[in-house]
Amino acid sequence: MTTSGARSRQRLELTFPDAKPLYASGEAVAEASRCLYCHEAPCVAACPTGIDVPGFIRKIATGNLRGSARTILSANLLGYSCARVCPVEVLCVGKCVYNDWHREPPIQIGRLQRYAVETVLGGGAALFARAPRAGRRVACVGAGPASLAAAGYLALEGVEVTLYEKRAIAGGLNATGVAPYKMHAEGAELEVDFIRSLGVTIRTGVEVGKDVSPADLLRDHDAVFIGVGLGADSPLGLPGEDGAGVVGATAWIERMKLEPGFAVGEVRRAVVVGGGNTAIDAARELKRLGVPSVTIAYRRTTAEMPGYRHELDQALREGVRLAEQAVPKAIRRQASGQLAALQLQNGQELAADLVVLAIGQARTGALAASFDGVVVDERGRVAADPATGVTGNPKVFVGGDALNGGELVVTAAQEGKRAARAIARALGLKIRVDAPMGAGHP
Ligand code: SF4
Repeated sequence: MTTSGARSRQRLELTFPDAKPLYASGEAVAEASRCLYCHEAPCVAACPTGIDVPGFIRKIATGNLRGSARTILSANLLGYSCARVCPVEVLCVGKCVYNDWHREPPIQIGRLQRYAVETVLGGGAALFARAPRAGRRVACVGAGPASLAAAGYLALEGVEVTLYEKRAIAGGLNATGVAPYKMHAEGAELEVDFIRSLGVTIRTGVEVGKDVSPADLLRDHDAVFIGVGLGADSPLGLPGEDGAGVVGATAWIERMKLEPGFAVGEVRRAVVVGGGNTAIDAARELKRLGVPSVTIAYRRTTAEMPGYRHELDQALREGVRLAEQAVPKAIRRQASGQLAALQLQNGQELAADLVVLAIGQARTGALAASFDGVVVDERGRVAADPATGVTGNPKVFVGGDALNGGELVVTAAQEGKRAARAIARALGLKIRVDAPMGAGHP
């Protein structure tokens, strides 16, 4: 399999080494051989996509890598990126029975999953046979994890699927936003190429609502799946915010990952505003890029932070500082306009020559609402049946950020899979590819 990227090598994200490198063959077999292959394994129940974890690990231990990758990908076509970006500490690995014994560490499920899928996809062999053409057409709006999963499962059932992506690059958050020590954009492209190899057409640089209308999509397809991500970084809305030195976190991370020649420059003191995982990621990345002083400013207490505790602890070990109960009041600038500090409501201020805003992103409900019959709630989320993703228009389905308001890659992948099954049923197709659906879903 070839990657479609040929991206510039002059990208800042490439200076970050892989935090959990690909296992060598002997390492993988040794780790797989520690698994107890539990009956009713808690690691399976902890996986939103229901991957048969002991099943794929046993196949690694017995040298059946192709079978292992099939087991993973039949449950989650995005099993490659999920292996690298999932918070396994609070999902499968966190539930491994070894945690209760305190004698040996839990099985490194994510690393084993990466080993199986990366090795097999890198070999280029086809893993799944596509069903004969079903004579049905489906459009997916966006080319992030939810759409890629939905498109892949539908393509395997013989559906002609086209993804419409407004950016020049497919992959969504996996390409533009994942912390680079977890995965570079090239990893996202490997996965996009795998989905494309299943028979999916991806049209990048095409914006629905601008280059192609929702009405046209509905007219030309039997169903539409809306899998768009979140929008622009939310502003603070405070005095002094507009101007150089104040940037949105996801916009900054995207430039750092993808823009050739992008550099941190002379930044000595960075303040990241927010308490979620994006804030923690941005802070860790700035610190690793050599910014001497990096502070996370969070408006409540540490215990109330929505970001993962293990990620915060790692950030603190790496030298990031945390300012609790730091409620922003204004951005102070020098007479020249140069950024000086983030002022707080308690009268203190945090000196800064870069302020990164990680307080949320705009919802993209307006696009979904432009499809006839689709209803969006007051928080910008699309109203839909959570088990199937079907909206108020029986031809329109939704999954991922547009449905859940922004959760994990694996959640988006699961919602894309569920919607694909629901669309296939709605189109009267006989489902051939056996995909474990996770607990409690049709
Ligand atoms: Fe293996 Fe741990 Fe899962 Fe048991 S809980 S099957 S030991 S990974």
